[in-house]
Amino acid sequence: MQGQVVKKVVVAGGGTAGWMAAAALSRHLGSLLEITLIESDDIGTVGVGESTIPTARTFNALLGIDEREFMRTTQSTFKLGISFENWGQVGDRYIHSFGQVGKSTWMGGFHHFWLQAKAEGFAGDLGDYCFELQAAEAGKFATSENANINYAYHLDATLYGRFLRKMSEGKGVRRVEGKIRSVRQNAQTGFIEALVMESGEEVEGDLFIDCTGFRGLLIEQTLKAGYEDWSHWLPTNSALPLQTRSVGPAMPYTRAMAHGAGWQWRIPLQHRVGNGFVYCSDYMSDDEAQAQLLANVEGEVLTEPRVIRYKTGKRRKTWDKNCVALGLASGFVEPLESTSIHMIMIGILRLMQLFPFSGCSEALMDRYNEQADAELEKIRDFIILHYKVTERSDTPFWDRVRTMEVPEPLAHRIALFRDSGQVYQSPGELFQVDSWLQVMLGQRLEPKGYHHMGRLMPPAQLRQSLVDLKGNIDRAVNSLPTHQAFLEQYCPA
Ligand code: FAD
Repeated sequence: MQGQVVKKVVVAGGGTAGWMAAAALSRHLGSLLEITLIESDDIGTVGVGESTIPTARTFNALLGIDEREFMRTTQSTFKLGISFENWGQVGDRYIHSFGQVGKSTWMGGFHHFWLQAKAEGFAGDLGDYCFELQAAEAGKFATSENANINYAYHLDATLYGRFLRKMSEGKGVRRVEGKIRSVRQNAQTGFIEALVMESGEEVEGDLFIDCTGFRGLLIEQTLKAGYEDWSHWLPTNSALPLQTRSVGPAMPYTRAMAHGAGWQWRIPLQHRVGNGFVYCSDYMSDDEAQAQLLANVEGEVLTEPRVIRYKTGKRRKTWDKNCVALGLASGFVEPLESTSIHMIMIGILRLMQLFPFSGCSEALMDRYNEQADAELEKIRDFIILHYKVTERSDTPFWDRVRTMEVPEPLAHRIALFRDSGQVYQSPGELFQVDSWLQVMLGQRLEPKGYHHMGRLMPPAQLRQSLVDLKGNIDRAVNSLPTHQAFLEQYCPA
């Protein structure tokens, strides 16, 4: 049997990515590894990243986290989807929920029945046939072992980091506080051998996980992995986060409100609200963005707005030599569909599956990088869809994104839906058919055709099945407590 070449793992950075990696590795491979995490209190973390998707529950389950304790400690709320406002046209609104819309058959999706019913004049809104969407609209929520509700969390990023730190240290992760001053590499191979701290301490390792945020201290500044720029498709490049005091009950969804040069988020937590303005600096100045953000938040402002700049894209190699980048160090796609924490999780799981016990080989790296690229490219296309499929022409920003060329696979998906109502999920793709559907229809992309399977049943039967479906959903939603009431009894302060 080959010996274990990689034993000492050094996580550089203690933001969400760093502590997620430390927590997962220490729980699942801890007895085989020595794990050290380095973070700098002076540099701090990006402090945003508070809206998740349902895979966050999978990650928590893998870590053996008790949900009530997690919710209480991280001041989390439940999330059933995202309310998109002003995207198709100013004044439009739709919810992209985590739920399934109606019931599909092997021949085709539920939406074909719905489109038939619409053509015959008796269909309700598509959202009438989705439980999670209706619960979100009504501000209702409950979990129980019997209730089948698909949900995620809104969490406080700083509290989440502390929560994971406690778990990781409990599992033996050594934390080193201080700034990394330089990186020592092997003169022949270029592999990283140690991180040299400002204190002079050298932290040696076999595998380094770069979680140093946008700066990519190891993957880019040291190894020069390169960056693939996607800003021609996703031109926003600035964000202004701002926290405010809650003014009303927390709703179980994120809000994504489009404005003249980007969009604004609102994320309800138990103890406060996270807000932020995402914009493209070619079309809006920082001062204008700040003024618009301050004019469109509710409740007392708790923090100073500060500009975060980014370039949308990804590292050409997220695993290079003996360094794997996670989180912002690996690339960035704006948080319109709350996908970054998911990508961290997937990266960690893949690293654990492909863990280089016998050394970092080219083949392992290629396998890791190919999968990471494929996943992120599909997410990127889904985000681009929100900008491309719009009727907005009220500002130069919207003119630009509405008329831009998009990646070929996305152009094909849009054409396919427009012509025939056909939607698909490719293998390994995060967003399912229902997600594509809710966004495309929510943004006024009306299909010219659809599958005629709805005509195989008499119109009265089709009509009755829709009435029954809606009735069942309405009854189920009515029986739920409000999200706020559920939170208060589920994880009281
Ligand atoms: P950071 O939080 O920046 O952490 C970097 C760490 O590296 C820090 O601990 C720092 O101290 C350390 N470090 C850096 N340099 C050194 C050094 N020289 N020496 C020692 N330590 C060092 N994701 C979502 O899933 N949902 C969202 O809603 C969402 N919203 C976002 C909104 C914005 C505006 C942005 C920018 C991102 C958002 N994200 C979101 C992404 C999410 O915030 C990040 O994926 C997540 O916070 C991970 O950040 P990180 O740990 O990679 O980096």
